[in-house]
Amino acid sequence: MLLFQRVEPLRRYLDARRTAGARLGFVPTMGALHQGHVSLIQRAKAENDLTICSIFVNPTQFNQSTDLEKYPRTPSKDIETLLEVGTDVLFMPTETEIYPSGLAERVDLDLGLLDRILEGEFRPGHFAGVATVVKRLLDIVEPQRLYMGQKDYQQCIVVRRLIEAFQLPVSLVVCPIIREPDGLAMSSRNQRLTPEFRRRASAIFRVLQQAGQLLADLPPDGVEKFGLQELAEAGLRPEYFEIVDGDTLQPVEPGNNADRIVACAAAWAGDVRLIDNLILRDKDD
Ligand code: AMP
Repeated sequence: MLLFQRVEPLRRYLDARRTAGARLGFVPTMGALHQGHVSLIQRAKAENDLTICSIFVNPTQFNQSTDLEKYPRTPSKDIETLLEVGTDVLFMPTETEIYPSGLAERVDLDLGLLDRILEGEFRPGHFAGVATVVKRLLDIVEPQRLYMGQKDYQQCIVVRRLIEAFQLPVSLVVCPIIREPDGLAMSSRNQRLTPEFRRRASAIFRVLQQAGQLLADLPPDGVEKFGLQELAEAGLRPEYFEIVDGDTLQPVEPGNNADRIVACAAAWAGDVRLIDNLILRDKDD
């Protein structure tokens, strides 16, 4: 595995590989790698000639400085994981390599409502930071394919909008959520859960599944109310539990015939904020 910390040598290397005909698959991460990340890398390896993973804890997407400070960082273990899975290139840039003109920089992208609903409502400015770092990383790596997890459903919608707005020559591949045996979606933040809250956190997936069953009999707002109650009863502090159109992320009306319906949830387990989602209906199924 080749490790790059600077943009220019990475660009030179990738340009040469691209010119020689290699197809590039890119997996951006913030490190503290787990099997969810590994699944993205495996998919990228299967579909491309060269797999590039980046590890960069992006300061501009954190709306709380304590969250940024507490974000787990395990670089040596991450390098071992990436070697085991057969990653070709690791890009671990410093802040100035990504933000040469400073941390105030933001990509010129109109997120519209996306920045005010669900995660956008509770994490103001988060998606502007995500879009900025993803645009910068895509400009550096110029991959044919970009691999991201459905775990961050709204993030995938934002990145799709970014790709369309700038007509970037990259395909977004959205990969399924990898879960622990009890259903908890894998996340770097899970490391910070106390044993008690780790147990309680399994309620999130259970309630998302129940929501899918209830939607046959209850209107969407009834299901949302049920979801919030159940999460609170499990000892979590829910921020939202919403049944939305999977393309627009707008609320679903009763009898709505959206192609895809998704239940999205965010809840605090102690001082750790967790998110998850479940596709309840998909016309492609
Ligand atoms: P992060 O390091 O949290 O920024 O995540 C990097 C990428 O891994 C993002 O595209 C995430 O959606 C994806 N990811 C995170 N957790 C999971 C998971 N449990 N299953 C699949 N993909 C995941």
